[in-house]
Amino acid sequence: MQYKYLGNSGLKISEFIYGNWLTHGSQVENETATKCVHAALDAGISTFDTADVYANTVAETVLGDALKGQRRESLEILTKVYWPTGPGGHNDTGLSRKHIMESINGSLKRLGTDYVDLYQAHRYDASTPLEETMLAFADIVRQGKALYIGVSEWTADQIRAAHKYSKELGFQLISSQPQYNMLWRVIEDEVVPTSKELGLSQIVWSPLAEGLLTGKYLPGQEAPAGSRAASESVSRFIRSKMNDDLLARIQNLKPVAEELELTLPQLGLAWVLQNKNVAAPIIGASRPQQIAENVKAGGVEIPAELMAKIDEILGDHVNR
Ligand code: NDP
Repeated sequence: MQYKYLGNSGLKISEFIYGNWLTHGSQVENETATKCVHAALDAGISTFDTADVYANTVAETVLGDALKGQRRESLEILTKVYWPTGPGGHNDTGLSRKHIMESINGSLKRLGTDYVDLYQAHRYDASTPLEETMLAFADIVRQGKALYIGVSEWTADQIRAAHKYSKELGFQLISSQPQYNMLWRVIEDEVVPTSKELGLSQIVWSPLAEGLLTGKYLPGQEAPAGSRAASESVSRFIRSKMNDDLLARIQNLKPVAEELELTLPQLGLAWVLQNKNVAAPIIGASRPQQIAENVKAGGVEIPAELMAKIDEILGDHVNR
């Protein structure tokens, strides 16, 4: 496992981050969730991503419990604020000072830690002045409740404006967390160049398009039992992408993977890591074996002709 600096900071994270959206507190039992966390630790993963909203706060509790007894200094714990949790009062959402201050306290309690390494704005809040949000983040960093700040799914312009405030207010904005995988590349034109210029890294979500890029979904067949697409927690994204033409093209990626002596999940993750502004993909897993398999994608170079071959195979299914 490699450990890389996140943005222009002195914080190192593992080259793979383990995330628990749709799994902990929902799709998988707590015992399996704990086994996945331990498999991640065994593989050298030190960085864990969650959010207050995952499984309506339960995912943070499950992760905190699974990490009990680990040396805190050897972990990087990442969580997020924005979406409402619980019964949903009128202030329980967005990036107001009130919601941020209340949310961080709840997250720390559930995670069983005095601080998170990275606190991320889960989305941009157009209804709250950016200055208010940034002042609240600056205070959280000063209070020691978060060490660094990140954003998720913000545009290049929003990142630039936030970065300016972070400099004025004296805290470090070091990461952007967008969706990025072979099928969803919308960050390449603007978010990545702006992030490079300002010293932010990408830590990217759904690097395997929620499992679609593993090749386990076959054209004309039902989703395999126990898979995300067959589970109740299936997301809109995976449902919208389950079409036979795309599933057949993903099967056609197998020879490319084989040429590199990789499995399809490993090819998908190695592809994401070819973008040098990506510090780490955030991998999800419903079983420990998936983690052991997926981390072997580290350190793989995909030659330009195979990158081009991947584009040719996926054709119009790529969102740019
Ligand atoms: P992935 O694209 O890595 O999908 C993970 C899922 O794919 C697994 O749960 C598993 O599902 C399947 N899978 C993974 N590896 C294998 C394998 N080797 N063989 C077969 N199936 C495999 O990522 P996620 O969509 O889970 O997202 C990862 C993380 O990103 C989240 O946990 C969260 O931390 C973050 N995230 C952030 C968002 C944001 O807005 N900031 C939004 C969404 C996610 P199964 O076995 O059930 O089929």
